[in-house]
Amino acid sequence: MAKWTYSDEPMHSENRRADERYLDKDLATQCLHAGERWEQDVPWTSSTPIYHSTTFFYDTAQDLDDRVYYRKHGYVYSRGGTPTHTALERALSTLEGAEVTQSCASGMAASHLALLTAGAGKETTILCSSDVYGSVYTMVENIFPHLGAPSILMDFTDLDQLEDVMRREKPGVVYFEVISNPMIKVIDAPAVIEMAHRHGARVIVDNTFTTPYLLKPMAMGADLVSHSVTKFLSGHGDVLAGSVSCRRADFDKLHDMLIQVGCTLGPNEAWLALRGLKTFSLRMERQCANALAVAQFLESHPLVERVRYPGLPSHPQHETARRVLTDGRYGAMLSFDVADCDKDKAFRFLDALRIVLAATTLGDIYSLIVNPARTTHHWLSEEELAAMGIAPGTFRMSVGIEHLEDLKEDLDQALRACL
Ligand code: PLP
Repeated sequence: MAKWTYSDEPMHSENRRADERYLDKDLATQCLHAGERWEQDVPWTSSTPIYHSTTFFYDTAQDLDDRVYYRKHGYVYSRGGTPTHTALERALSTLEGAEVTQSCASGMAASHLALLTAGAGKETTILCSSDVYGSVYTMVENIFPHLGAPSILMDFTDLDQLEDVMRREKPGVVYFEVISNPMIKVIDAPAVIEMAHRHGARVIVDNTFTTPYLLKPMAMGADLVSHSVTKFLSGHGDVLAGSVSCRRADFDKLHDMLIQVGCTLGPNEAWLALRGLKTFSLRMERQCANALAVAQFLESHPLVERVRYPGLPSHPQHETARRVLTDGRYGAMLSFDVADCDKDKAFRFLDALRIVLAATTLGDIYSLIVNPARTTHHWLSEEELAAMGIAPGTFRMSVGIEHLEDLKEDLDQALRACL
């Protein structure tokens, strides 16, 4: 029997032949075009490749026309997406239980697009929880009022007060996060969504802290769900990304906003987010379990005054969290107050940590800690910080996937070192 060689496979050499379409062209033209766009049927790859091409080419003008007018699925120009973006968006729609998802360049871009899509604009009041992420707070407080959209920022935990404001102010858009930062308050999401709809408002939930592992706002009736994909969804602290999920009826407007504002996610970033997403459920399982155990450990620590974690029975909204969040999952975010702690002691504590990283952001595989008074909320006056309950010794921790005993040991030695 003849020995098998690669050359017995006709396609092995066939697909390496010179590109006949450009054989008679100048080297300059060959450099540009030879080898590109020759195969129609790309093999299925187990993970979607990164499409760096900014534009897409079809056999006929009619084929392109069909894509420009959305008569057929396809791609035209990468500001509107590539197959890499689509793979991420389909994954996120699936996770959120949403009809459709638009990826975008950051969580801030997502909040902005969601507000525009929900109708924030001339004479449409935005009612926003005062505990939202700081830059969303300032966007709602500073940018939208200049566009004619008045804003009201308030605590969403008191439902009676909230209903009074909705009745009086008739907001067109209601925006909130379900677990707040850094006070870790839990908002009764189904009650707020139902109330907002009863008063004629559209609802945006920023699901960054809760994630679809804990909460599916679309199933509770939310109109739009925004994400800083930068955080738990991608999970590795290596990419800035955002997404907005919604119903198909809202998608044309959402997509048009993205095209016109131009806040498209880069294809590398889409791919990194997609890759990070593969281990999302595994990471969350470990991070939630670690967070509960760290919260219990800190609560019993003699040098810690108070711990805020929705999974602790001592948390003021523990019952709400049990009812609203999926399957007794309470997330990976907690905050705590070190006893008798001023700025110097807070810095000594942070400097003594060896495993937990003293750095901004959250949702990474690494445990991260910040002193909100000096970082995430540094622009607030002492009085404003005190009114929010943020003390010089308040720390917000995003719990990672390290071994639990190593985390406890690190926190304990740093608490003792800063005495
Ligand atoms: N929403 C929440 C809850 C956040 O914590 C953040 C960032 O920390 C954002 C939105 C903004 O996300 P990005 O930093 O990806 O723009």
